[in-house]
Amino acid sequence: MFSIYKEFGISKEVYEYGNSILEKLEERFREIDDIAEYNQLKVLRAMQENRVAVECFNTTTGYGYGDIGRDTLEKVYASVFKAEDALVRPQITCGTHALALALMSNLRPGDELLSPVGKPYDTLEEVIGIRPSNGSLAEYGVTYAQVDLREDGGFDYDGIKAAINERTKLVTIQRSKGYANRPTLSVEQIGELISFIKGIKPDIICMVDNCYGEFVEKIEPIEVGADMCVGSLIKNPGGGLAPIGGYIVGTKECVESAAHRLTSPGLGKEVGASLGIMQSFYQGFFLAPTVVAGALKGAIFAANIYEPLGFLCVPNSTEERYDIIQAVSFFKPEGLIAFCEGIQAAAPVDSYVTPEPWDMPGYDSKVIMAAGAFVSGSSIELSADGPLREPYTAFFQGGLTWNHAKLGILKSLQKLVDGRLVNISQLC
Ligand SMILES: *Cc1c(COP(=O)(O)O)cnc(C)c1O
Repeated sequence: MFSIYKEFGISKEVYEYGNSILEKLEERFREIDDIAEYNQLKVLRAMQENRVAVECFNTTTGYGYGDIGRDTLEKVYASVFKAEDALVRPQITCGTHALALALMSNLRPGDELLSPVGKPYDTLEEVIGIRPSNGSLAEYGVTYAQVDLREDGGFDYDGIKAAINERTKLVTIQRSKGYANRPTLSVEQIGELISFIKGIKPDIICMVDNCYGEFVEKIEPIEVGADMCVGSLIKNPGGGLAPIGGYIVGTKECVESAAHRLTSPGLGKEVGASLGIMQSFYQGFFLAPTVVAGALKGAIFAANIYEPLGFLCVPNSTEERYDIIQAVSFFKPEGLIAFCEGIQAAAPVDSYVTPEPWDMPGYDSKVIMAAGAFVSGSSIELSADGPLREPYTAFFQGGLTWNHAKLGILKSLQKLVDGRLVNISQLC
């Protein structure tokens, strides 16, 4: 086996260090396989119950009236997420778009949006208007309130209670930590938060930003009381095959509002051609549970590789996982850059290019990204990115197969070793 790793420039030392770590992870990997097995059957059951047929893969163009592939897929999503309805469309361009759509369609001027889990994902700052932006919620007279998590990562229940007022219409709960160094929330924790909020004001719409969380656990946020759950198809639920898209699942009313905003008042879900990409949506969703399992193994492997070397890993090497993201802080820019170079060098596509930090739309500092993906920008495929700011944290995620994730992590470590940014000889 080593001879093939050697062809990728992996040294004996790095290879053996990796294997010594892996020996300790057998039990955890078994638990991940168990969750994948459950979720695989859940998806399969939804496909059978909703009578997915070969006709569902036909293409439609123009208005897309009566597109059974599109309509059936939405039923499959609704079944899997235990929601009343779903909107799953290639016309939703990305996760940010799906979240903006869910927010803008369910809020009206004079309403207030509350985040009880701290600062939302960077790109949402412009959607909300935390950073002024053309067309933000703030421009439409929707105000925003935020309650940060407590020092220990728990909910600030007193603060949340004080923040809820007669104008509070919608609460946004981000499951994954995104680019923050806070813990990711479990579905169970999200459920506790929703119960608390509904106990104060039952008609508040509770929305969960589910990005990177799908299929990591056996249950999803709608099952613990969320009214709406939103995500991107070039992350977990697309299974690496969906070339574009986003989804919103939830109550009939919430989904209908979103559909009327996506297309037009009066048209709603009735229009929207699927343009021949339905098979990739179905097949990707079918593969998603096992793809997510591979990505999770990669994340756990990375934490167990980097933590003993003195880098800060969030989650740490032993913690329970609620999303597929692994943050590793290198405390200097060279470490972050070397890590990303290693991930890039392990890619099936564009492995020969060198990633460079750049100013990305929607982000407020330079960002370095490593992605050699089949689908451009897809972060269910092996990828790493991080803003060039203290503490120089790489956010690592994905891997369509565990084997690829393993190579990527070993290659990243090799880059750090070669750059003399870490010394593993004393650990081997
Ligand atoms: C990725 C992500 C988004 C935004 O999705 P894009 O597809 O990048 O626009 C929003 N929230 C969270 C938590 C994310 O991880």
